[in-house]
Amino acid sequence: MLTESQLLESALSRSEGCLYCLRPDQPPSIEHFVSLALGPHAAEMVLPRGVVCEPCNSHLGRQIDEALVHLFEVQLIRGIFKVPDRKGQMIEELPLSNGRIVFTEEELIKIEVFGTGHIQEKSGGSLLVNVIAKRRNSGDQLRRATRSILKMGLCLVYQSGGPAVAHSAAYDELRGAIFGDAYEGYLLIGEFDPLQWPNLSASLTGDLPGIGRGARLRYGGLDLIADLDLGPANNVVRGWAQDNGYQVMDISPKCTR
Ligand SMILES: [Zn+2]
Repeated sequence: MLTESQLLESALSRSEGCLYCLRPDQPPSIEHFVSLALGPHAAEMVLPRGVVCEPCNSHLGRQIDEALVHLFEVQLIRGIFKVPDRKGQMIEELPLSNGRIVFTEEELIKIEVFGTGHIQEKSGGSLLVNVIAKRRNSGDQLRRATRSILKMGLCLVYQSGGPAVAHSAAYDELRGAIFGDAYEGYLLIGEFDPLQWPNLSASLTGDLPGIGRGARLRYGGLDLIADLDLGPANNVVRGWAQDNGYQVMDISPKCTR
């Protein structure tokens, strides 16, 4: 059993290390906890230099943040609203399982679908075009994107609670999940509306039924919530999700380090 002063000492020495790996001797970096590819507003969602080390920042950026940026929904929003990435590049074309979407210079979105089976005539003379997202290894991508939301949550804990809280052992399991340790969890995905202006917000939620602490990313009409208390979705969450049009994506334990 550690005494109170020993606990405090260990919390203090931990807080000198990187928020993710806890190592104190790594080169520092500035952590953008929401990818800059989601728009200029993400530049404000940042932790001061040195809170996160450079190796963790670039490793996790490639491993998990890219998976989030490449979600079909995110790419569609970026294409429609011409959101530039950090290099100023915009999405010109999005491949579909049954065609492609081309975002032109003008305010024009060209949808090409293969075969007439994807077009239905509706009453009143309107046409319904079914666009089928192209997803490769979708389970793996969602698992990685969820880790990215969990990582964002840990950064928000740091912002609101400071290093003594965010570096404490209470978040070690979460740190492991962020790095790819097998964990059980879930991601809530709200009903998607691609035509909502891509306002960006990252927040901690404590007011959703069945979720003690959640990390929530809203990007226009995309709403993603991950539970920071790892474990499967309970029945209260499932009931709330069903009543409010949220999909529950279960994350089964699988190591992806
Ligand atoms: Zn690190």
